[in-house]
Amino acid sequence: MERYQSIIVGGGVSGMTLALLLAANGRKVLLLEKAPVIGGGLCRFRKNGIPFDTGFHFTGGFVRNTILRDMLTVLGINDSIRPVLLDKERSNQFLFEQEGITIAVPAGIDVCCARFEEYFPADRAAVKQYFAMVDRVIQATPSFDLRKIAISPDPIKEDFVTLQHVLDGLTQNKMLQAALSVYCMCYGTRPNEVSFANHARVAVGFYDAIARVEDGGDAFIRAFRQAFKDLPIEVRCHTTILECLDIHDRQVGRFLLSSGEEVTADECIFTIHPHEVLKVLPRQHFSKAFWDRVEAFEASNGFFSVFGAVDGAGPGPEVGPSLMSVVPQADINRLMDPSYDGPQALAIFQSREMVRDRPVHVVTAFEPSYFQHVAPWQDSKVGRRSSEYAAYKDRHAAGICDRIRQVFPQYKDSFKMVDAASMLTFRDYLSTPDGSAYGIRQKVGQFNLFGRLPLRNLYAAGQSAVLPGILGAMLSSFVVARSIVDQQQYNDFVSKRLCH
Ligand SMILES: Cc1cc2nc3c(=O)[nH]c(=O)nc-3n(C[C@H](O)[C@H](O)[C@H](O)COP(=O)(O)OP(=O)(O)OC[C@H]3O[C@@H](n4cnc5c(N)ncnc54)[C@H](O)[C@@H]3O)c2cc1C
Repeated sequence: MERYQSIIVGGGVSGMTLALLLAANGRKVLLLEKAPVIGGGLCRFRKNGIPFDTGFHFTGGFVRNTILRDMLTVLGINDSIRPVLLDKERSNQFLFEQEGITIAVPAGIDVCCARFEEYFPADRAAVKQYFAMVDRVIQATPSFDLRKIAISPDPIKEDFVTLQHVLDGLTQNKMLQAALSVYCMCYGTRPNEVSFANHARVAVGFYDAIARVEDGGDAFIRAFRQAFKDLPIEVRCHTTILECLDIHDRQVGRFLLSSGEEVTADECIFTIHPHEVLKVLPRQHFSKAFWDRVEAFEASNGFFSVFGAVDGAGPGPEVGPSLMSVVPQADINRLMDPSYDGPQALAIFQSREMVRDRPVHVVTAFEPSYFQHVAPWQDSKVGRRSSEYAAYKDRHAAGICDRIRQVFPQYKDSFKMVDAASMLTFRDYLSTPDGSAYGIRQKVGQFNLFGRLPLRNLYAAGQSAVLPGILGAMLSSFVVARSIVDQQQYNDFVSKRLCH
């Protein structure tokens, strides 16, 4: 029977981060991926030769609180990742359709604060206080220093209040509340459910500067693959764990793989959706309370996405907004309610990609969506869906294309849709239970599935563990790696790499 020190389940950014960290610290790693290739949400796809992003379009974390940069440096792949900051004057805009107001959100938290004060002069004090609170949360967040991260850091008071509660205490201005909550749609939890602290931890990266990455998620995957070459990491695609066997003293002795093989390991870390983890765990070894808690996690929103391109030279995305968040009305809680059936929000993201040495102006639009929107076709699989589903998808995609042309009338004749994806498409390509974009909704006061599980050589990490998005997924892996590797060794490793 093959023996490993660490088995990692899931080859997305979280699994790849863990594999690299653990192997660089001397462990023999087996990385299991259900799909034909590793990368998860980072994988791009190509249509008509044009590269499109699946689950990674932009992120914060490259400037000021350079947590993403720090993680890439420690992983030794920083030089391969080239961010393109969306820091031009009108790169990032919020369009409130009902109110007819456009807010250009600049890069840099201080500039951002000043700009919001200009837009909302009667609420200057509230704006100032909001940004001061965001800053305070970041200063008090130990996980933003890779040497101090821990699975259970001391909570701060902002961990126990919702974003909505804080906003209600600051201002009655619903437009300002909405403007300060727009980013909830970039992590999938409503203002009245997310803790102010978690909102601040994600939003600060966006206030500092949103960035896309040259060659998108593929740049990450290439860099990880290259780094894996010198390390004791075995990657197996099309493979998962079927069963945990030989359980003694609250520890799993053997793991049965879908290939039929049995392997042993000191520890196994799941980076997949918590509900998928339950499918592998031996139910009889877990309390009802544990099981009920994990089963009760609710899905974040997903997206209905349209992928397209604008023909001809035109002014290009560098001139106009790279990210336009279209908000039909100012009640973000209502917009993000799964039962809401009015006009949806829409994020329109634009970038320039090189296709056969020619620049192509790429447009991707995402409309927040929930599983119930596609529930009638949930038993179908990619390539084998009904004509009713095809009609739903065509109708919906056409509606989004119309909205893109309304927001950017200059694209009336030049914007062409190339492909579209519903939550079922994302569910089936990313092997998630429901196609949600950010795993579970990370609600205030909730205990996520994170760190060591009740069987003591099993662990959980991934985007549902601590913070959503690729930054959160990677961060969860650093925290778990630190708890597995000897702490002194981990700290020396991180310090040495950060000093280079
Ligand atoms: C449409 C969309 C847009 C998004 N946009 C952004 C964005 O712009 N910025 C951002 O930061 N985040 C974005 N996200 C979220 C981002 O994709 C995730 O946060 C990130 O990819 C999560 O990484 P992960 O490693 O935790 O999980 P994943 O990337 O989902 O990786 C999990 C891997 O595990 C595999 N797997 C599943 N089950 C098993 C099993 N039983 N055994 C073995 N392998 C298994 C899957 O195939 C997958 O490869 C978006 C997501 C979506 C869907």
